[in-house]
Amino acid sequence: MAETFPEPFLCYHCGNIAAHKRIGLFEAKELFEHVDGRPYRERFNYEIYRCSTCDGINIFGDFIEYPRHKAFAARRLYPRESLILPEDHKLASAQ
Ligand SMILES: [Zn+2]
Repeated sequence: MAETFPEPFLCYHCGNIAAHKRIGLFEAKELFEHVDGRPYRERFNYEIYRCSTCDGINIFGDFIEYPRHKAFAARRLYPRESLILPEDHKLASAQ
């Protein structure tokens, strides 16, 4: 498998816009739609990237023939949202 280094993108683990190395590519068949109650599965690519800053894993995926998202960033599957929490002193007090 060829290693690829896409354009730097936002890592949801460390919050840096960093270079990522693709460390995994996996093709599966995932549920695409139901027609008359029957499930239809289509080829789906999972891509796993490791952040060069924190080693966090960011996973992207979409259907191959019928992609649901044009933008790479919209294909993010994991993490769904940033894991970065504000520092304690920036959180509003509940009292
Ligand atoms: Zn990171």
